Amino acid sequence: MNIHSIFIHIVELPTIRPHKLSMHTITKQTIVVAQINDTEGLTGWSEVATIGGASYGEATPEAIKVNCETYITPHLIGKNPQQFNLLMYEISKTVSGNYFARALIEGALIDLAAKQRNIPAYDLLGGKTHDSLPVAWTLASGDTGKDIEEAKELLLQKKHRIFKLKIGVGDAMENVEHVLKIKKEVGDGARLTVDVNQAWDETTANYAIARLQDGGVSMIEQPLPKWNFEGMSRLTERFSVPIMADEGANSIHEIFQIAKHRSGNSIALKVCKAGGLQATKTAAGIAEAAGLGLYGGTMIESSLGTAVGLHVYSTIPHLEFGTELFGPLLFKDTITANNIEYSNFEVVVPDGPGFGMIIDEEKLDHYKRS
Ligand SMILES: [Mg+2]
Repeated sequence: MNIHSIFIHIVELPTIRPHKLSMHTITKQTIVVAQINDTEGLTGWSEVATIGGASYGEATPEAIKVNCETYITPHLIGKNPQQFNLLMYEISKTVSGNYFARALIEGALIDLAAKQRNIPAYDLLGGKTHDSLPVAWTLASGDTGKDIEEAKELLLQKKHRIFKLKIGVGDAMENVEHVLKIKKEVGDGARLTVDVNQAWDETTANYAIARLQDGGVSMIEQPLPKWNFEGMSRLTERFSVPIMADEGANSIHEIFQIAKHRSGNSIALKVCKAGGLQATKTAAGIAEAAGLGLYGGTMIESSLGTAVGLHVYSTIPHLEFGTELFGPLLFKDTITANNIEYSNFEVVVPDGPGFGMIIDEEKLDHYKRS
């Protein structure tokens, strides 16, 4: 049952429509998949995603693969995956940073460890407190009319009633008007939040957030650059609408600083940002102790990576802002034989063994970068 071999795959999956963010428009999403085989023939799988190569964050798919293969996986051959906690601790002593790479490997170790025991991964993380979680959809077609149509259709299908708008590209005040038009059309039947992805300076934020707050928007995500913790503190103090830190809230140490200086009153959790599932739980603990609201974030992972997120988020009792685990709905195809279920405005936590996803290896081969 010890680790026999490890493979890291870069996979590109097409999306159903262009997905416009401040730093990049996604038409095909790049994910990195880890495969850890044991000596008995069981395989642990995990996934992390990045957005637009190096444009969203420092971790690129290519760097994740090379760093996993060069610095992380050689430590693991012949080791027992049940000791994933000890193994990841040992890796942390020789591999600094590299949160995405470490999250990817820890995920595959946990999937394998859970499969060896024939239990769901969430049972290795304390057990689930939710069977399903609220799930927001991101309206990011770039066109107000299309976004309104999309929101109304999703409300009708009972898929989503929380909508996030990506408003970091272009003129800030035009974007604010775009949001307010959509809010007017969807009315009180849905909650509208915005993600600025660091695009504003503080003066623009002061002006735009005042309009958004008056217009009934429910949350403002990362309005300022990730380094501007003091500016985020001033916005949090000034406005009553919740201010969420995402790009600025990565390691548990950053989250502690945000909690201490109130550089936001809510945090977007992401397994890859924290460096793994266990670190995500630690991050949630810091936030809970400081009274910060929590959100189960996404880097737009496919079904596998979404299952990873769901397994850890399901163990966190208070997720005041629900999740945005809509990734699988944005993809034209998947690398798993089963898929994530969405029903009654929620995303369902897949039961195990492991993360509960069955890999379709033919599809994995088809979409894999050669
Ligand atoms: Mg965000």
